[in-house]
Amino acid sequence: MHELSVVSSIVKTAEQEAQKINGKKVLEIYLEIGKLSGVEMDSFHFVWPQCITNSVLENAKLFIDEPSGKAKCVECETEFEVEKLYDSCPKCNSPFKEILVGKELKIKKLIIK
Ligand SMILES: [Zn+2]
Repeated sequence: MHELSVVSSIVKTAEQEAQKINGKKVLEIYLEIGKLSGVEMDSFHFVWPQCITNSVLENAKLFIDEPSGKAKCVECETEFEVEKLYDSCPKCNSPFKEILVGKELKIKKLIIK
């Protein structure tokens, strides 16, 4: 499952960050997971509690920002909302586009104690 490796790497990063400042635990974690990042949120929330047990993230408050996808058509330069990675341009139907927003997958902020 893709989400399992995503959450594992988030936990790993959080532990490294906490270690850097001699923190014992993370109180709050802010994530940015774009709608086009390929992360299935149901699966994410399913694996999250399992992965954070006995880590610095145990009991941390989880905040997730999910920016929706936005792309610019390569052919006609129209900017449009993208639900799925393979959506084509609503104006000229071209499948070629540049993704502007929505593929983010990162930790925005950690509150460490
Ligand atoms: Zn177009």
